[in-house]
Amino acid sequence: MDQPFPMIPQADPGAGYRAQKDEIDAAVARALGSGWYILGREGEAFEREFAAWLGAARAVGCANGTDALALILRGLGIGEGATVATVSHTAVATVAAIEMAGAVPLLLDIDPDTYTMDPDELAAVLEDPPPGLPPIRAAIAVHLYGQSCDLDPMLAACERAGVALIEDCAQAHGATLHGRKLGTLGRAAAFSLYPTKNLGALGDGGVLATDDFELADLIAAIRQYGWKERYVSSLVGINSRLDEVQAAILRARLTRLDAGNARRREIAAAYDAALAGGPFAPPARREGADHVFHQYVLRAPVDRAAVQARLRDEGVGTGIHYPVPVHLQPAYLDRVPLGPAGCGETERAAGEVFSLPMYPELTGEQVERVCSALRGLAKG
Ligand SMILES: *Cc1c(COP(=O)(O)O)cnc(C)c1O
Repeated sequence: MDQPFPMIPQADPGAGYRAQKDEIDAAVARALGSGWYILGREGEAFEREFAAWLGAARAVGCANGTDALALILRGLGIGEGATVATVSHTAVATVAAIEMAGAVPLLLDIDPDTYTMDPDELAAVLEDPPPGLPPIRAAIAVHLYGQSCDLDPMLAACERAGVALIEDCAQAHGATLHGRKLGTLGRAAAFSLYPTKNLGALGDGGVLATDDFELADLIAAIRQYGWKERYVSSLVGINSRLDEVQAAILRARLTRLDAGNARRREIAAAYDAALAGGPFAPPARREGADHVFHQYVLRAPVDRAAVQARLRDEGVGTGIHYPVPVHLQPAYLDRVPLGPAGCGETERAAGEVFSLPMYPELTGEQVERVCSALRGLAKG
């Protein structure tokens, strides 16, 4: 049978473009007309504007969020002979970046309510490192789905152990903890600018931020062949640059980021209300944290596929972030070390979570259709 309405996709990066088409087209034309396509004025302006918006001293653009994480690790001299603690319930990119830098990832379990790293586990491995691993030199805190990790105890544990806390803000542009923006609380922070992220390019992009000028300069050199001066590699680098067209697009989109996050929160509140009294608990909000709802995630402890199918029949697209924990994916299986407590909550979450449509351009009518489908689920 034909759908009575077109399907509401779970994500719709094209809608973001269409909503700002004139501004974005003008930005692209400006960049194309400039005759300079890599690391020029647009990129510099984006770095300045992003750092100012975030409240960090420096921002450095790069090719994608994975590279941003790997560049931070390389800039801090964390690679071979080091272990980096993070979680398995994340985009595979977090773990891939650790291995790109040459370090060993140590994957810890999550808190089941907020899906972020269990801070007690981090404290435990820092105090009593698992045998047979190189020393732990950093922890990557992944602010998953748009909400802060339980960062205070994590920062305290890292400080006690003398290891760097790096923030993976790929899903948390604009989220705060105690009124302070995520990405300004650790040693350095990585942001993905992938098209579906809260701040998205129309292609690949990444940016990292830090208050350490020396570290920023070092990373800026590493991202372009280790050049401090043109054609002279003073250190071994890579190529991971943000191009001028994407930078120009990102400058236009940055002006809408706060409004987009506010709209995501409004949509989340509408979904919360539609779920009230039903079997699905709305996402937990951490006290003191302002969530930016990169994803709006629910759990279906039994028969997730059937719940997704019912929503699909109502024209509501869903996604799963993420269906397979990193440590169970073929490339990592039986190879990456886990924390002493294992990853039981991670595996349970992977089997139960699903994400509702979430992007600022959802219309009021679309949000109401999702809400009505959610109310239908509550009736059984
Ligand atoms: C998207 C994402 C990344 C990687 O970003 P890319 O730009 O795709 O390389 C890293 N970490 C998390 C948590 C992400 O969601």
